Formats: sequence, structure tokens, C-alpha cells
Amino acid sequence: MKLILLGPPGAGKGTQAKRLEEAHGLVQLSTGDMLRAAVAAGTEIGKIAEGIMARGELVPNDVVVGIISERIEQPDAAKGYILDGFPRNVAQAEALDEMLAGKGTTLDAVVELGVDDGILLKRIETRAAETVGGPRADDNAEALAKRLTVYHEQTAPLIAYYKAKGKLKTVDGMKDMDEVTRQIEAVLGISKKEGNWLSRLTGKK
Ligand code: AMP
Repeated sequence: MKLILLGPPGAGKGTQAKRLEEAHGLVQLSTGDMLRAAVAAGTEIGKIAEGIMARGELVPNDVVVGIISERIEQPDAAKGYILDGFPRNVAQAEALDEMLAGKGTTLDAVVELGVDDGILLKRIETRAAETVGGPRADDNAEALAKRLTVYHEQTAPLIAYYKAKGKLKTVDGMKDMDEVTRQIEAVLGISKKEGNWLSRLTGKK
């Protein structure tokens, strides 16, 4: 299964992608994580991306499209994957469509985590406050606000793009994390009936 998780920063895409990875054997492909690794390793791509990411802007399309096209060729991606943070604009989405068509395949679904802007701003302010001096250079209030603006201007048009292709499924991203996981599985038709896997994953009953 090939999925995209779509939603603004702070909507919980990373958390949900990790859960789907553990429970369903899909790999999480996060361009943000890959770019942070490139910055940490000081690669050419890392050098291009570092300042752009710290400001909350988008890294050039050819860079992220190149990263993803190589990554989905890796053997562990053969079982299926969840794209987290890619595509971020229509040009990237078109490049992805082309990439997949070239391999004779297509996306199964795009899951949008719907989140109210006011609540999101609160969440990202909390995250900025909690992570002062933390591992992410872009978790300051200014960069987060910029990322939210970039989301609305460049990424949100993907909702209409995938709706027109009949791929879009929307879940309520404002519910608690476990409920969001259940909703995602329900819209994808991959709910686990056997055992209580969610309580195993979260340690909660
Ligand atoms: P994320 O971890 O997905 O929030 O991404 C962190 C930052 O990495 C973003 O604010 C962008 O600067 C950059 N980034 C991640 N994915 C992409 C992408 N698909 N296109 C352009 N920039 C990206």
C-alpha cells in the first residue's frame, strides 16, 4: 500500500505514520527526517537545506523529488510506504505521479488529517515552548508560523488535487491520537480485528 499523510505542521502526521509503520509493516518516508539527517551529516543536500529549513521555507522541488525517487527504490519500500511531508506542493505531486506511473503503479490513498487552525497554533506554540534549544532548528515560533503559512499557500491545494483524482480520505485530526489512528485504519480498510494491537502499541488499555 502506498499512502500519503497530508496535513499542516503539528497535525500529528509523524506520530500516525510511525503507528502505521509498526502495525502494518509499511515504511515511513519522511522528507523532513531525511533532510535533517543530511544537515546533520553535512552533505551537499544538507548544506542547501539547512538555512531554508531553519526559516520554515520549502527546500527546492528537484532536491526532495530526487531524494524520494531514490528512496522508494530501496528494497524495504517494496512492501509499501507512507509519505510523510511529501509532496508539499502541486509540482511535487505531479512529479510523484510521473515517478509512480513510470514504475507502472499508483498511490492507494491520500489521508488528510483535518485540523482547526486555532487549535493548531496553540499546539505549535506549545511545541515551540517545549523545545527551546531542542533538536529542531525550525521549532521556534517564527519558523512554525512560517511553516503554517507555507502549508496554506502551497500544500493545502493538494487537497483539491487528490480529491479530483478520487484519492482523498479525510479524518478528524483534532481527536486524540488513538482515535485518529482508528479513523485512519477505518478509511483505509486496514483495521486490525485480531488482538488489541493499539493498547500494545501505546501501553494503554
Ligand atoms: P517536516 O519535518 O516535514 O515538517 O519538514 C521540515 C522542513 O523540511 C520543512 O519545513 C521544509 O523546510 C523541509 N521539507 C520537508 N519536506 C519537504 C518537501 N517535500 N519539500 C520541500 N521542503 C521540505
